[in-house]
Amino acid sequence: MLRDKILKVSLIRQLVCAVCLTAGALAAGAPPNIVLITVDTTRADRMGFLGSQRGLTPNLDAVASRSVVFTHAYSQAPFTAPSHATILTGTYPQFHQVQDFQVPLSSDLPFAPAILKANGYHTAAFVGSIVLDPSQGLGVGLDRGFDFYDGGYHLPAPGEDHYTSTDRRATVVVEHALTWLSKRPAGPFFIWVHLYDPHYPYEAPEPFESRYKSEPYDGEIAYSDFALGKLFSYLRANGLFENSVIAMMSDHGESLGDHGERFHGFFLYDATIHVPLLLKLPQDHLAGKRIENHVGLVDVLPTILQTVGIEVPKEIQGESLVDLMSPDPPSAGENAPAYSSVRPLYAETEYGVRAYGWSAVRSLRTDKYLFVEAPRRELYDLAADPKAEHDLSTTSKAVADTLQRQLDSFRQKTSKTGEAPSSANDPEAQEKLAALGYMARNVPPPDAAMGLGADPKDKIEIGNMMGQANFLLESQRIEEAILVLQQVIAKEPNMWIPYAKLGGAETELKNYPEAIKARRKAVELDPDSVDAHYELGKVLMAAQDYEAAVPEFEQVLAKMPGSLKSHIFLEIAYARTNRLPQAIKECETVLASLPEQYGTNLILGRVLMRSGDAAGAVPPLLKAASLRPHSPDPHVTLIDVYTKLGRNEDAERERNLVKSLTENGPGLSGPEPNETGPSEP
Ligand SMILES: [Zn+2]
Repeated sequence: MLRDKILKVSLIRQLVCAVCLTAGALAAGAPPNIVLITVDTTRADRMGFLGSQRGLTPNLDAVASRSVVFTHAYSQAPFTAPSHATILTGTYPQFHQVQDFQVPLSSDLPFAPAILKANGYHTAAFVGSIVLDPSQGLGVGLDRGFDFYDGGYHLPAPGEDHYTSTDRRATVVVEHALTWLSKRPAGPFFIWVHLYDPHYPYEAPEPFESRYKSEPYDGEIAYSDFALGKLFSYLRANGLFENSVIAMMSDHGESLGDHGERFHGFFLYDATIHVPLLLKLPQDHLAGKRIENHVGLVDVLPTILQTVGIEVPKEIQGESLVDLMSPDPPSAGENAPAYSSVRPLYAETEYGVRAYGWSAVRSLRTDKYLFVEAPRRELYDLAADPKAEHDLSTTSKAVADTLQRQLDSFRQKTSKTGEAPSSANDPEAQEKLAALGYMARNVPPPDAAMGLGADPKDKIEIGNMMGQANFLLESQRIEEAILVLQQVIAKEPNMWIPYAKLGGAETELKNYPEAIKARRKAVELDPDSVDAHYELGKVLMAAQDYEAAVPEFEQVLAKMPGSLKSHIFLEIAYARTNRLPQAIKECETVLASLPEQYGTNLILGRVLMRSGDAAGAVPPLLKAASLRPHSPDPHVTLIDVYTKLGRNEDAERERNLVKSLTENGPGLSGPEPNETGPSEP
């Protein structure tokens, strides 16, 4: 009974608060606009508004002075995909289950843009990296509810800069947002602006690079703040600032050596989990308020929804912070705020599991303690030991046991039951991730992810070295990367990933025997990995060992029949090994999805001709000729085809065409097109 009454009182107050926060907006006749800003990989301790003396964030500090600032905000996952999923759904990683870039966001989850769109908002997203670009098979489902999603990324062509392919500079992302804002339809809007720059490598443009030469990470933070300054100026100049809710946060921080971790993803200490969070309310409501309570990024969405007067869906697990922010928090007892100030904050990471087969790590942060669940658990008294340097798990065993039980019970209550969305274990998406330095493997179900593999604490040096190798590979410093990978292999001879990376590096150098050796070892160590077979198949194709490539692509397609690139490789390999009926079947499969694929039309024509079906060869060869009018190759085969059909005039015409095309054009390309790989359709 009492509980019911408390709930009722709390509910009424929530409604009242929602109205009071938006009163100005409602009076003006328009709901507030919402600007959600996520700055990737940004540490809380670099923000001026959180006490940093480095002077990196003048623009954010100016907005913070008109905002509510949360001094103790924590991320629920130190990794881009799960953390953004938490921000945008208001649910924990164990509920939304987006543990990795390839795991699609389930369509039944509450989702900020979908909710806001349903409430009359125009919605647009401006993301700074391919990792959040659904059109590239990563971040699938993130575009739900957005009228406009500014992705359009691609893997770099040889020699192409990553700033024009896989990610955009912060000022470019902001420019795109301003262009959309300048042409937006009438009515309230919700935009999500994601800046990727502070993510490694730290290479801010000038003048920030020179100014922060000794602290390049800080240079990226200063540059991101500079870009946000342009966004804020636009909002001010166009009368959009006052009536907007502006929520700024980072998805996670960066370790920069804390606890031995160089980047982010493996650990759950403050360096990556303590994040900046500020909320500017319409008409500068509650400006200057600082909230010291622990809050989570999971709380952001319900807070925004309540602030603009939209009912919070019941599936949302975070708690609205509106009561916490209200100027006169009711006293305890019957009028206790809806927000539970001493609620433990949960975080987890499966990065170690997914990338390396190590254990998952989970943590619970109470007012006093940080408890870390891992194969060797940890306990820190943050009040006495804010840097979490003195592990008390063995001396304060009872406390650790209690927190372990709390963590277990919290996970149980907040996990989604039913089948986890399967990660699109797609070799093409894997290729994209690998090119970005990310790696994912077949993973155990979430409940088995704890304690099965090594403790990331014991492996962090390997994690750092792999991070360094990835950076060297991305920067095309291949020989240096090979040296680092060989060091990793010397330390960890049974881990598949360094072999896979080494195979990629040796392939770049066209050192195929070494590449094949490394790729074979990767397959041997991880025989169930679709990706490992795919990559071995690719390098065998490059080395023109078609016979050996065939079974690799057959294995990929047995598990992933939809991999078009595998079908294309296989069509070539079958054609090259004289398996003509199989080659025809593969070509037909490819053309059913990609009728405009030049190479496949050409191969189909050639293979049909070789199998005696000259009449059948004509249509695909004509199609190929129409797709690349300057290529002599389809016409070369058409000479034989028409001769065989007794169409001598046509054969003569083709002969003349070949002559003029080879004289004026690039010449013949060889017996099979796309030897080393399918061209992009
Ligand atoms: Zn991130």
